[in-house]
Amino acid sequence: MIDQVPDYLFVKDTECRFVVANKSVAADLGRGDPNDILGKTDLDLHPSDLAKGFYDNEQRVLHTGEPMLDIEEFVVLQSGQKRWLSTSKLPLRNAQGQIIGLVGIARDITDRKRSEDEVRYLAFHDTLTGLPNRRSFEGALSTMIAGFSPDETASVLYVDLDRFKYVNDTLGHSVGDALIREVAKRLEAALSDENLVARIGGDEFAVLIGPDSSVSAENVATNIIAQLGRSFSVLGNVVQVAGSVGVTRARQGMPPDSVLREADIALYEAKARGRGCWVAFAAPMATALEEKAALERDLRLALLTGDQLFLEYQPVFDADAKAIVGAEALVRWHHPSRGRLPPGVFIELAEERGLITQLGDWALEQACEVVSGSALPWVAVNVSPIQMRNPDFASRLLFILATANIEPSRLQIEITEGVFLDDRDKAVGVLRTLREAGIKVAIDDFGTGYSSLAYLDHYNVDKLKIDQSFVAKLGTSKSADAIVRCIVALARATGIRVTAEGVETEEQRAHLAAIGCHELQGFLLARSMDPSKLLGLLTGRDPARSAVTSP
Ligand code: C2E
Ligand code: CA
Ligand code: CA
Repeated sequence: MIDQVPDYLFVKDTECRFVVANKSVAADLGRGDPNDILGKTDLDLHPSDLAKGFYDNEQRVLHTGEPMLDIEEFVVLQSGQKRWLSTSKLPLRNAQGQIIGLVGIARDITDRKRSEDEVRYLAFHDTLTGLPNRRSFEGALSTMIAGFSPDETASVLYVDLDRFKYVNDTLGHSVGDALIREVAKRLEAALSDENLVARIGGDEFAVLIGPDSSVSAENVATNIIAQLGRSFSVLGNVVQVAGSVGVTRARQGMPPDSVLREADIALYEAKARGRGCWVAFAAPMATALEEKAALERDLRLALLTGDQLFLEYQPVFDADAKAIVGAEALVRWHHPSRGRLPPGVFIELAEERGLITQLGDWALEQACEVVSGSALPWVAVNVSPIQMRNPDFASRLLFILATANIEPSRLQIEITEGVFLDDRDKAVGVLRTLREAGIKVAIDDFGTGYSSLAYLDHYNVDKLKIDQSFVAKLGTSKSADAIVRCIVALARATGIRVTAEGVETEEQRAHLAAIGCHELQGFLLARSMDPSKLLGLLTGRDPARSAVTSP
């Protein structure tokens, strides 16, 4: 009966000699017949260190009379195979209750142990790259910090790929995965064994440089950036990415997640400084980030309540500065504690945090409402490239126009050349829809971006707005003079209207009028103002003279 059981069954005497053993025990010890091992001890059958472990446990059971249940034992079979057993050893008593030996039952748990090891490995490693994962990195960091003396520090680098999302989106996830693997290899190659590198997120890696390291964090960061700047060849594609790095110091008593957070903040700063560089953490960066988070919260609230945001309108004049031909709507925020904030402070934030569409829709609705039923010929509204990415931007805009019941030609949208950077064909398609509906399209800040002549060729736009920086340099910079003259000539030749922004002096105005610029906008003529004031100017007094304000 006992030979039918796949588990190991045996009985030993008080000297730990086998008295009974089933076939499974014998087979794994390389004996066909269980009788061959009777009378023998583990010392006769196993390497001595293993045998000693078994013997110690068994002597304990024999002396205490307490069974030992489910102990994990490691054995090496005759065949050389290594096995894990879960063993129970129970005392065997005679009728008088005296211990005369022990009964052992053991079960092979090697497969279970293996999957446990695998689970443990998975819990601490990243499957894609085989590198340690975030948990394992934090564990190593925590152990290192715990051993620090007060002035001992380690460096932690947070590495992030620039443009990884773009690779993933355009070439597919399998290329993205392969790229991550290649990046992991390059990072490992760039580091010596004394440094730990881990993958802690999608395209994010962390490096730990201990206090005794022979290399400095600065050198490692520079090296990593150089390595990641070289093009990669993945699955038949040549891929160019770049790496940004945030660096911080782990000090005694710091929780590992705060160390990583500091490095992440420094990384954020590196990205803001133009990517492909490394930045060391400094406390003010954290403050700036917190302020930004607070501003985001306030902006969400402002969009919800709707009574802190306002549009002001800056009149646009004809070249003689006599008549107001239209106006540009510019958003302002009356912040409850910080006072009046210019758009420069919050537009980028709104773009970054996904609030620009809401803000942009609101601005379009407001501006259309103001122009409807007024004497203002048209209103121009700034539109962020992110708004245009939205597939239903055109239909929403048409809906807003219909609701306000204004002629589409009385709305101009001002876009920057950034619109064409994302997806040129799509942007051109959206613009065509808008223009076919009668809406006017102006390119804002013209001359500062890529200034591709292609838009002019494709008749995608109605107007160019010469950037203020060129206007400011008129008369003092030969190249600014030439650029402005060139833009005006080009626009006129292709039937596109041209506006000069930031006109602050009479000399600038006269110069622009002389070279044929159609429209002028700037502090010389008027600053931005409440809609009621603008409408007053239009209906009442001589707009040119009363609108003039000192710059
Ligand atoms: P922009 O579209 O180039 O707007 C012109 C900016 O120049 C305005 O600043 C305006 O007040 C200022 N400006 C006008 N004339 C002069 C001048 O003679 N001299 C000088 N030095 N500046 C002049 P503002 O209002 O601070 O707006 C800054 C930027 O914020 C705008 O630049 C525009 O890109 C953005 N913005 C404003 N409102 C909105 C909006 O509703 N939506 C979006 N997406 N962006 C907006
Ligand atoms: Ca503008
Ligand atoms: Ca502009």
